[in-house]
Amino acid sequence: MSDQKISRVLQVGIVLLGIAAGTFGMSLLIPKGGFNDILATKKPESNISQASLDGTASAQAVAPATKQIMEVPKLFQGKTIYEAKLKPNEKVIALTFDDGPSPKNTAQILEILKKNNIKATFFMVGGMVQLNPQVAKKVVGDGHVLGNHTWHHGYRRMDAAKAASEINSTADIIYKTTGVKTTLFRPPGGFLKNGLVDYAISQKYAIMMWSTESGDSQGRGQAPTLVKNVIQRSKPGAIVLMHDGGGNRSRTVKALPQIITGLKSQGYRFVTIPELLEIEAKAETLATKASPAVKKAQNPNNQPKNP
Ligand SMILES: [Zn+2]
Repeated sequence: MSDQKISRVLQVGIVLLGIAAGTFGMSLLIPKGGFNDILATKKPESNISQASLDGTASAQAVAPATKQIMEVPKLFQGKTIYEAKLKPNEKVIALTFDDGPSPKNTAQILEILKKNNIKATFFMVGGMVQLNPQVAKKVVGDGHVLGNHTWHHGYRRMDAAKAASEINSTADIIYKTTGVKTTLFRPPGGFLKNGLVDYAISQKYAIMMWSTESGDSQGRGQAPTLVKNVIQRSKPGAIVLMHDGGGNRSRTVKALPQIITGLKSQGYRFVTIPELLEIEAKAETLATKASPAVKKAQNPNNQPKNP
């Protein structure tokens, strides 16, 4: 048994003795947090009640970390976002793949991402999920995040009922196939005014545009051009647009390893869209906390009582 383990056993012993000598009410706290939680407490010098409270708190803190983050912070629900606003030294970037899942290209892209231990965000077309359910499941199984990209990928103006059906049917098939409820929406072609986005906003989706086009859905440009496009157009908080469906994406598959290497060499790490937004939300919270005086001054109802 290691010294650390012995010391933890002693701590538990002390805690138990404390309970025996202490009040009965205090002992009720123990099963709540559980012994494992007491063992996990990071403050060995804590007294009984502190150990119990820490135990309960750490159990709550651990739960969300093991869950894949699929929801965007409230701050961004119903908003249209092109990139995260981060400090220049916050070198994170989000890779996104649209129009899949497709049997060949999605599988190849998943392979590359896995090799590089990168999590990305896939905006799926409902009809493609229906055609390739196993691929959609694999994307989620590999730990990536899903977004809604409509059922038919249409660009034309549509009425509210049609927009609702495009988005809801896709949300349904994604959920039935993968168990994921996504709160991310990307309008096909980036069209914001054909009725789809109005409906998506009414449903509190975050409208996820992009800041960095790889150009992989445009006719010209081989893999080296795509690599150059992404590397040159990237910055902290950028959202990169690529495609794993909607045609032959062999150029994307060819370019992706070099895009990853290039960005890594510049110090970037790769995050999913919810992670990216979480980083921005945290930065904003910290900024607000750091300057409470500014916050007070901005709020006309919060005048000082003794001017
Ligand atoms: Zn698309």
